[in-house]
Amino acid sequence: MKEQVKSIDPNLVPKRTLYSGDKIPAIGLGTFGSDSITHEKVAATVKDAIKGGYRHIDCAAVYLNESHIGQALKEVMDEGVVTREDLWITGKLWNDKHKEVEASCLQTLKDLQLDYLDLYLVHWPFPNYHAPYCDVDSRNPDSTPFNIDAFMETWKVMESLLEKGLVKNIGTSNVTVPKMKLILERATIKPAVNEMELHPCFQQPELFDFMVQNGIQPIGYSPIGSPNRPERDKTEEDAIDTEDPIVQKIAKRLNIHPATVCLKWAVQRGQIPIPFSVNPRNYMSNLECVTTEPISTEEMEEMKTADKNSRLIKGQV
Ligand code: NDP
Repeated sequence: MKEQVKSIDPNLVPKRTLYSGDKIPAIGLGTFGSDSITHEKVAATVKDAIKGGYRHIDCAAVYLNESHIGQALKEVMDEGVVTREDLWITGKLWNDKHKEVEASCLQTLKDLQLDYLDLYLVHWPFPNYHAPYCDVDSRNPDSTPFNIDAFMETWKVMESLLEKGLVKNIGTSNVTVPKMKLILERATIKPAVNEMELHPCFQQPELFDFMVQNGIQPIGYSPIGSPNRPERDKTEEDAIDTEDPIVQKIAKRLNIHPATVCLKWAVQRGQIPIPFSVNPRNYMSNLECVTTEPISTEEMEEMKTADKNSRLIKGQV
């Protein structure tokens, strides 16, 4: 029997204003969890999550589930649960498509059954890096290191997508401070967001501050510390966010799960977390937690000491 969970009024979920003026929900739903979760399961989750109050969905072509998610989006719109304008849909250009930006964006729009994306990101600043179907245990021989000239060629086409009305905002993902400085020197339209790994044990304070100071909204992936990430991305030294003593202390005081402390912290710090879950109880408590009692100022200060510079998504391939 399907579990009954309380839905959340989306108007209670805070929003962030991008420099473009567009308002993006301060928490979203991730759509890539692990290779063992089927595309059908993720799509059913997207549909249920929207019915439950989610309005922001983080998609990517490389997750290979956009056509399934597109069907879910169509159904919630056909059923009158939401209109297109109620939703914030992010897509991402995969690494082997840096020279096929417009065709890739059009394919994503077709798969998602949409006329426009709210946000389109360059997934990684490395062409061909970890191209799909290359052996996950070996580096793709066609991958090339970051090259600002090549990146700006890609970015120029990203900018043209805005002018064509295919996307409302463009941004980057996995871009560091030195790379962003080069991009900002040469971009006509600067990135509206940078999506990056952010969780209590990996706070990336310099990168976070740089983005904020430059009016670029940080979106935080793996916000709970990605407990089910692929084995290839796990090492013995990795910190476990939900076991951090400060996270646990706050969880105890507020009588909530440590996972939701990570999300409260993220939203209060100013990044947009995009937790993944296919468990209704979990994904609904992830949304609900941003509408309930906040972490105190003192606790937010204490949370700084949870940072262990523990990067989880190491991208070895
Ligand atoms: P998360 O930190 O979101 O962890 C997800 C895991 O946490 C799931 O396995 C889920 O299990 C569990 N979980 C979620 N909520 C709870 C809860 N309330 N209590 C207990 N457990 C919980 O990591 P991800 O790596 O999945 O990152 C999230 C999203 O970020 C991805 O789905 C993707 O959209 C995006 N991403 C972007 C990247 C980029 O390069 N731009 C890179 C990596 C991710 P369960 O299903 O059982 O609830």
